[in-house]
Amino acid sequence: RAKADGRNGYRFYTAQIQAHSDRMLLLDNALRRALERKQLELHYQPQIALMSGQVVGAEALLRWTHPELGAISPVEFIPIAENNGLILPIGEWVMRTATRQLSTWIARGMAPITMAVNLSALQFRNPNLPQLVTRILEDAALPPQLLEIELTEGVAMTHPLEAVAVMNELHQRGVRMAIDDFGTGYSSLSYLKKFQVYKLKIDQSFVRDITEDPDDKAIVGAVISMASSLGLQTIAEGVETEGQLEFLRARGCNEAQGFYFSRPLPTQAFEDFVRKQ
Ligand code: C2E
Ligand code: MG
Ligand code: MG
Ligand code: MG
Repeated sequence: RAKADGRNGYRFYTAQIQAHSDRMLLLDNALRRALERKQLELHYQPQIALMSGQVVGAEALLRWTHPELGAISPVEFIPIAENNGLILPIGEWVMRTATRQLSTWIARGMAPITMAVNLSALQFRNPNLPQLVTRILEDAALPPQLLEIELTEGVAMTHPLEAVAVMNELHQRGVRMAIDDFGTGYSSLSYLKKFQVYKLKIDQSFVRDITEDPDDKAIVGAVISMASSLGLQTIAEGVETEGQLEFLRARGCNEAQGFYFSRPLPTQAFEDFVRKQ
């Protein structure tokens, strides 16, 4: 009996692995044509300044709608794109599309806001990244200060020497860098001194229980005051409630982003959101 169960359990397990790798293979193949078939789209999530309550930025977030499989989360397809190298053309498309969109909004009378774009390790390791970014900004006729590049701690820390060089170069060209999911990575705080970081994005895992959990209160409070002493900006991710917002405001966090204000929005809806604020 136990033996039979064991064998069934094993069979179930291998079937799961098989299904998982079938889907990976399917997505890998489908992703290769997603760009040219115009299945990729950007949504924009508002970033709000806590002092003024105004929208001061947008984060561009990739969306992929497959004709048969429907919406596929970036959490699932970004790792595949990183693995097969497609993140390079896709990442370039994201930066071009997001900067062009911001330029269009400003031309249509929107007060200038910043545009945050997520970058993968593979994109960041390209030594020509600074030149590419500059060219994209020129093509979009956008001042570099309006672009914010989001990197996770891991991206910067896996090749710290190269990262310092690339970040210095981007900084010299006027582009700003934000550390995404701050607090979840290697967290060697010394890199905050070495790297040209402009902003820390406090990870949503610390924000979630901020009104009840004394540890999260302490961590977030400490990150905000450390950032402020180092002359860095702070933004809290995943803000969903008034209570979280009040805590962050009281501690002097600069900005917030989350479902409390808005989900990531398609282009037109974002424009409407800013106009109605
Ligand atoms: P991220 O950069 O940390 O983006 C924040 C994620 O949190 C987004 O998920 C956003 O929709 C979600 N979020 C925002 N506010 C809330 C909230 O109040 N509550 C909760 N529960 N979630 C919230 P999304 O769009 O699914 O993206 C997931 C991740 O995929 C991103 O995390 C980023 O790492 C990656 N990603 C998305 N677009 C791109 C891209 O263009 N390039 C690269 N390299 N990665 C991307
Ligand atoms: Mg991000
Ligand atoms: Mg994040
Ligand atoms: Mg993330």
